[in-house]
Amino acid sequence: MIKEKACRNCRTIIEEANVKECPECGSKSLTTFWRGYVVIINPEKSEIAKKMGITKPGKYALQLSR
Ligand SMILES: [Zn+2]
Repeated sequence: MIKEKACRNCRTIIEEANVKECPECGSKSLTTFWRGYVVIINPEKSEIAKKMGITKPGKYALQLSR
């Protein structure tokens, strides 16, 4: 199983292999060192999304390291 990458900039989880930059924000700073995730379906109605500064639906990493 390939560990999914997460974007250090916007926390989006990238499920495709061989991706070199984040499809959401264009950052090349990706990491496989992340733990936990949230799926945001409705950012306007989600307290977690507001806290994390998320404005688009998607799957986001909760904790990033290195
Ligand atoms: Zn990003």
